[in-house]
Amino acid sequence: MSAPDGGATADRAARLRALPGVDALAARLRADGDGGAPTAAEAVAAARVVVAARRAELLAGAADDADLLARAREHLRPTLRRVLNATGVVVHTNLGRAPLAPAAVDAVAAAAAGYLNVELDLDGGGRGQRDAHVAGLLRELTGAEDALVVNNGAAAALLAVAALAPADGTGERRVVVSRGQLVEIGGGFRVPDVIAQAGARLVEVGTTNRTRADDYAAAIAAGAGLVLRVHPSNFRTVGFVQDVSVEELCALGVPVVDDIGSGVLATGIAALADEPPIRRSIAAGVAAVTFSGDKLLGGPQAGIVAGTAQAVAACRRHPLARALRPGRLTMAALAATLALYRDPGRALREIPVLAMLTAPEGELRARAERLAAATGGTVVAAVARVGGGALPLVDLPGPAVALDPPAGADSLAAALRAHDPPLVGRIADGRVLLDPRTLAGDELDAAAAVVRAVLGRA
Ligand SMILES: *Cc1c(COP(=O)(O)O)cnc(C)c1O
Repeated sequence: MSAPDGGATADRAARLRALPGVDALAARLRADGDGGAPTAAEAVAAARVVVAARRAELLAGAADDADLLARAREHLRPTLRRVLNATGVVVHTNLGRAPLAPAAVDAVAAAAAGYLNVELDLDGGGRGQRDAHVAGLLRELTGAEDALVVNNGAAAALLAVAALAPADGTGERRVVVSRGQLVEIGGGFRVPDVIAQAGARLVEVGTTNRTRADDYAAAIAAGAGLVLRVHPSNFRTVGFVQDVSVEELCALGVPVVDDIGSGVLATGIAALADEPPIRRSIAAGVAAVTFSGDKLLGGPQAGIVAGTAQAVAACRRHPLARALRPGRLTMAALAATLALYRDPGRALREIPVLAMLTAPEGELRARAERLAAATGGTVVAAVARVGGGALPLVDLPGPAVALDPPAGADSLAAALRAHDPPLVGRIADGRVLLDPRTLAGDELDAAAAVVRAVLGRA
């Protein structure tokens, strides 16, 4: 950068003078009409933001050329966009986790457009309970006496510990956790912090690799009133390892909160065999099991507390419950997703996460070949992942389509991401890989069209 001289100052003044007026830019935006013409007010709003930002750039010394029409057009596009997930990561937290089943999509659309009996008892006309719409299904599917829904898995664990940890003689609420379970789940969910935020005190027992029932018993004898078990979703300890089963924990004589994370309701999926089943924890006699709605359950973002009538009632009464309660769209999507589990075969076919995890090799190969033929890519052997911080050791082998980038894998991946709709693949060995496992239905053809447009092979 050279110091500002007379030439640069004159140049900047000329650039500032050449800035279009807000109305002129708005008129061009309206005439442009690309992607549906904005209203006059929308066009002026966009032009005002873009012209002001450009003026600030020029005053700060920018000497590049800028396409203000393109910027204004971009400004009016929603930043939250439908994305084609070709990463092969089935539960991709950065891409919104689980796509919804068609029945859940329909339920959300119907719920969004009108009023709902969220808290109205249609029989008696009195005030109903928000959770009633899913509690019955959760009782039926998990064997729990009752259930409560909150905004996410973290909220469910927080609420359960806050509501269920009893105070000891000194007024302290002590929660015992194995040192092997003091985990951090992505996005800043740290077990010690959750316990502190729930107003309780953490009592650590055992070691990173080995904790025994006696360790818990000693802490309980010393006054701890709640056992928190946390599934180490996103890592595994192997070798000289021992922990205490949920049945043994329930025999210790104090309430157990079991944060199992993913919440697998489906049965018979080999890839999910290592996830703790909800039903087992309920049958063991935990006070409450907590899990997410949008991981391996395949529903909307939600957190579920399922357990004894007494424990769930205590959670419902806790002041945090009101702060954590979900909206009606969540309730509609969750109820519709859970209803599919009444027919396990239908759940596997229609819940996208489950369908992707169990997609047969032949179907994946046919999809990969179709994608390769449409894009000029090559079919290669690859490995997809469950994702969502679950089952870090499980490989999902299957074919993927490799694209040889004309100018580097990073720049091709970036161009695919910047396209409308964005296509997100992954980079391996200097190539961009597109995994057909996570491209459902007509998304395969949409993905092929993006690749052709970006590579100029239309
Ligand atoms: C994912 C997870 C959470 C957090 O759930 P969110 O739905 O992401 O809030 C908490 N505990 C465990 C064990 C998890 O796997």
